[in-house]
Order: sequence, then structure tokens, then C-alpha cells
Amino acid sequence: MLQIISVSKNYGPNISALKDISLEIQDGEFVFLVGPSGSGKTTLIRMLIREELPSTGKIFFHDEDITRYNRRQVYSLRRKIGVIFQDYKLIPELNAFENIAFAMEAAGKSDKEIKEYVPYLLDIVGLTNRTNFFPRQLSGGEKQRVAIARAMANNPKLLIADEPTGNLDPDSAWDIVQILSKINNWGTTVLMSTHGSDIVNSLHKRVLRMEDGALVRDDFRGSYDEVDEFSLKVLSESGKQAEAASELVQEATKSAEDSQAEEATPELEQTPTDSQPEESVPPEHTEQTEEPKASLKEERLKGRKTEKPKSDSLTPQKNKKKKSKTKKKKESLSLLKKLKKRKILKIRINYIL
Ligand code: ADP
Ligand code: MG
Repeated sequence: MLQIISVSKNYGPNISALKDISLEIQDGEFVFLVGPSGSGKTTLIRMLIREELPSTGKIFFHDEDITRYNRRQVYSLRRKIGVIFQDYKLIPELNAFENIAFAMEAAGKSDKEIKEYVPYLLDIVGLTNRTNFFPRQLSGGEKQRVAIARAMANNPKLLIADEPTGNLDPDSAWDIVQILSKINNWGTTVLMSTHGSDIVNSLHKRVLRMEDGALVRDDFRGSYDEVDEFSLKVLSESGKQAEAASELVQEATKSAEDSQAEEATPELEQTPTDSQPEESVPPEHTEQTEEPKASLKEERLKGRKTEKPKSDSLTPQKNKKKKSKTKKKKESLSLLKKLKKRKILKIRINYIL
């Protein structure tokens, strides 16, 4: 699915962030990308999602050279690749449901699809009971689970996670890796960069190791050969590494058995229409974004939305319960429009659009 051929990236004359990297990732693999801070993991990931271009070399995704993609093709590429980051990058003004719905809406999914699929995704990441919570009301692990659900919202072929457990306690980190493992068992290729050697050692997946911009090791079913601080913490705090690993294998096996049935008939739950937290946009967010500069992407979306307004767009709003169906329809507002209305357009939506 992915071929990286002699990729180098220089920042100015003195910084070689990537040095002649070549590797191939097959459909359905789970690959760890390890290496010390500054070794080039994030830079490599940025090339894969076309946030940056290599200085030299080529990158093929499904046999197409993405380094030659035009802007339109880059949008399309990003919908085929889900990405999660260490700092979650959730939109603070949207609740868990809306953060996921927003990614689907931006990809042109219908309200019906959104209302059916978001609860299913929330269920997969174990957050059904946090549907209406805003990012600030969620723990780090929960935020990362919302981010995973959002990354999976448009059924990507490849899920890339850049240090997704970097800010999490050991137990939450394990939860995240288990969810990624489950997603991988259902067929999505996963590339995860990490410092968590316990995780890498226990899962016995392929390990790519980077050092100083170079790929120094590519082990199938390898392990992380250094015990770092994170690992020691896990071992001392929980002491359940082996147990967790064995549980994971059992769960993975079960998931694989269940996956076909589950995929064929996704569990549909009632879309939340009540008990929305009475939240308002925090003043600091409004202030930060009082003079939004719409990017080309946003303009493009604006055009699309203006051309063809949806009459029954998703409207998670306050006091919905009390409103009649007709009234709800009249007040209907897509999430994108809602964001525009609140003048919070200047948000980092690059990674989902
Ligand atoms: P990692 O993710 O493994 O910690 P990075 O990919 O972030 O490493 O960084 C690799 C190297 O490239 C570092 O030396 C970093 O300072 C440098 N680097 C990354 N991005 C830039 C940039 N935009 N400009 C200059 N140097 C950069
Ligand atoms: Mg990094």
C-alpha cells in the first residue's frame, strides 16, 4: 500500500531530517515507528500525509506517487488516511459527537450516515457515555479515543498515529493501543510512532527504528531494544504487562471472529438529542479567532455549503428536546456553519479536510 523510495528531507543546508529512507508497508500491517526524539518520525509522517514534500525521493500510496499530487488529490489522499496526534487536535468548541460528525460532514457524508455511524464509532472506542462531552470535560485517554473515532470516521485504509500515547498514563496508553490493534484486526493498516517500549515489545509487530534521520532497523515481529522511562513506569505501576498482552491477543482473536458480523450490521444507537451540556464557547477561543482568515480549503467548503445547503443538517443544540420537529428543521445549521457563525473558523482543520 505504501512505498517510500529514497526519501530525504533537508531543512536548509544544515538540517537533514530524513536521510535516504526506503521502506514498504503492505495492506493490513501494524507497524511501529520508534526512535529517539528528533530522529525524524514526525517528519516522515508529515511526508505521508503530504503536509510536506520530500527534498528528494518518491512516495507511492496505492501505486500513485503522492509527491506529484495536486491540491485536489491531496484532499482526496487525506480522506484515505486517518491521523491522530499526541495532542489530540480536537476542536474545543465541539463535543465528542460533533468532533467526529464534523470530519464526516467535511467529507460530504449525509446527515443520515453521520447520525448512524458516529454512535457506532463512539461505541468502538468505548465512549458511548461521553457522547455530549466537550474536550475539556474529557481525560487525556478519552480525548485520544475521540480522536481515533474521528480518524476512522471516513473508513481510511491507513491509520497513522504520531506518538498517540505520549501524553497518557500507562493504563490509558494500553487502552489506546488495544483500540488501534482492534482496528488493525478489522483490516485497517496502522502506522504508530511511539516511545513506549513495553507496548512495542509485547505486541511483536514490525518495528521500524529511526536514528538521526536514517532508518536503522526494520524488524518484522521485532521489539524495542531499550527500556525507557515509560516502560519502567508501566512495569512498576501496573506489573501487568504479560497479562495485558495475553488479554490483547485473546481480544484480537475474538475481534477478528466478530469483525465480519459487526461490520455488516453496525450497532446503531439513538443519536443524542437531549442532555446537551449547557456549554458556551469560552471567551478565549472567541477572542483568538475574531478575525478569521478563511483558508482555501475553508473557502472551498464554504462554496460547497452555500451552493447546496442541507435542509436537515445535524444540529446538536441546547434545549432540542423542547423544540418541535418543524422548528428544529428551520433552525438547522451544519457544524461548519455553526463554527462560522461563532466566528471560530480559524481552526486547524487541515488534517481532516
Ligand atoms: P521526532 O518526531 O522523531 O521527534 P522530528 O521529525 O520532529 O523528530 O524532527 C527531526 C529533525 O528535523 C529534528 O532535528 C528537528 O529539529 C528537525 N525539523 C523538523 N521539522 C523542521 C522544520 N520545519 N524546520 C527545521 N527543522 C525541522
Ligand atoms: Mg515527533
